[in-house]
Amino acid sequence: MKNLVKNFIIIFLALLLIAGLLSFSPLTKEGPEQIGVSKMVQEINAGQVKSVTVNGDNLDIILKDDKAKPQQTQKESTQSFSELMSNFSVAPDKLSQVDLIIKQESGWSFWLKQLLPILIPMLVIILIIYFMTRQVQGVNNRAMGFGQSGAREVKPEEKDKKTFKDVAGAKEAKEELEEVVDFLKDPKKFTEMGAKIPKGVLLMGSPGTGKTLLAKAVAGEANVPFFHISGSEFVEMFVGVGASRVRDLFTKAKKAAPAIIFIDEIDAVGRKRGSGLGGSHDEREQTLNQILVEMDGFDPNLGVIVIAATNRPDVLDSALLRPGRFDRRVVIDLPDIADREEILKVHAKGKPIAKDVSIRKLAERTPGFSGADLANLLNEAAILAVRSNKKQITEIEVLESIEKVMLGPQKKSRVMTIKDKEMTAYHEAGHAIVGHFLPNCDSIRKVSIIGRGLAGGYTLSMPETDVRYKTLAKFKDELAMTLGGYVTERLVYGDEQLSTGPSNDLKQATQMVTSMIMRYGMSDKLGPRAYGDNEELIFLAQEIHEKKNYSEKTAETIDAEINRLLEDSKKTAERIITEHRAQMDEMVKELLEKETVEQEEFVRIMGDVKKSVA
Ligand code: ADP
Ligand code: ZN
Repeated sequence: MKNLVKNFIIIFLALLLIAGLLSFSPLTKEGPEQIGVSKMVQEINAGQVKSVTVNGDNLDIILKDDKAKPQQTQKESTQSFSELMSNFSVAPDKLSQVDLIIKQESGWSFWLKQLLPILIPMLVIILIIYFMTRQVQGVNNRAMGFGQSGAREVKPEEKDKKTFKDVAGAKEAKEELEEVVDFLKDPKKFTEMGAKIPKGVLLMGSPGTGKTLLAKAVAGEANVPFFHISGSEFVEMFVGVGASRVRDLFTKAKKAAPAIIFIDEIDAVGRKRGSGLGGSHDEREQTLNQILVEMDGFDPNLGVIVIAATNRPDVLDSALLRPGRFDRRVVIDLPDIADREEILKVHAKGKPIAKDVSIRKLAERTPGFSGADLANLLNEAAILAVRSNKKQITEIEVLESIEKVMLGPQKKSRVMTIKDKEMTAYHEAGHAIVGHFLPNCDSIRKVSIIGRGLAGGYTLSMPETDVRYKTLAKFKDELAMTLGGYVTERLVYGDEQLSTGPSNDLKQATQMVTSMIMRYGMSDKLGPRAYGDNEELIFLAQEIHEKKNYSEKTAETIDAEINRLLEDSKKTAERIITEHRAQMDEMVKELLEKETVEQEEFVRIMGDVKKSVA
């Protein structure tokens, strides 16, 4: 809009200039005395006229009297001079005394006079069009510019280079990425061994857990360039730009190989395709397709590794997760106490912190904080200290900042109160203990009360060996473990205090039982029959739609069987938890203190048990 005004001013000034020039031109200069045609006729009749020069429609009259000023008059352009004379019945002998000069107008001035009235408006219009197209082109250029060089490149020699030292905690993630660093440092070493270098790594974790930081650190460690682009940037672009931008990004990275491409928020483009609630988004799909095409297309030994980050791995299109694409996945959890302490130490560097502030205590007070929150916390504290004219950051500032960050917009849901924390600890301990003492459950690897995604905490169990088939016994034990959290909450806090926390567990348990009896024939009452016709529909977010192919009476039996199995599992869980109540309390104490308990520690508390290896 501002440009438009500017252009109008330019055009206006240009017009003024043209008008000015024209007014100075000899056409309008004060010249000969203007007279009427009849005066000229009189003069001719009086024999005073020496010569008449016909110059277009102008008649320039020179009088015989040398002192007289030259005169000028005009004739009609349709009439010739001689016609004019005969109209005024000038006597031929008088006329013959006059020297008649017919001047051809010089070519260009004649044409200029003819064309100028047409040319000037045309020129103006052309100018306007020119400026307007330039503006539109500007927009296009910018769009094309997106397509060409949207990614921000961080060269290895740049100053704010990050290394693993800058990433506190996140030990497991760092270990897994160490391998990627090795690939990038010396791709040849691996290709000579015939090993295929992974193309894609997916970092999964809540916002602010340091995914970008880790990707940068990988680039920094390997000393390779880092190309950064965000999935959400594609969404607002014109159709086709996203795809061309992806193409360009990969071309650039390939030229700079070995290099890292970092795609932040990949879920913005990588959502399940065709899950068309709200219509499909062409641009998104094209961009995603282009990413897939590029990832399939490049030679894995080139040394280009794509690192993508998301906090919603559940919504990702399965095509992204296929082998040869993002087949490596690294989960980054919210930091536990020990990690938080380390992160705080990293960010406390360079800040004068008073001696009365204990970093450890600070870590204890900030469950649920992400790395970014902690960095923000110390920053806020520093700002507060400056504003109250202090030389050091004291406890007062720190405590105030904790609250400030906690009340921040996205934080409310994630930060746990002490009571929540305890309840989560009991809940997870419940899962873990039931899983530990039932012979058919997998070994417990890790118990944590630091949330992951929507869950308040998690219990990680993994089998010792790969198992192909799942037995009924295993199903039953796992069912009890799934209900372990729910059962514990009820036992510990009383039925009235049951929270909404276990809703997901109940859903999972119900789905499990339903599959057991309807698909695997695991109920004697219902017999060896597959009930329902499973049809995976792509739309409606890939929910499984069940077609009913059984009678109402059978449906009742199915319901009853589902309830019976769930009830049995609940009893099993209750039995185990009551038996091991003392160990449960010890476990909860440990969890509240450390927030994560690893396998070794867990087994130390619970004692070893024999697992029946399937
Ligand atoms: P994400 O990409 O997961 O949303 P970022 O990598 O952008 O998170 O993290 C934001 C900021 O939080 C980082 O720049 C860093 O200052 C801080 N941060 C997050 N995690 C850590 C960590 N593990 N160690 C040190 N700082 C961290
Ligand atoms: Zn649970």
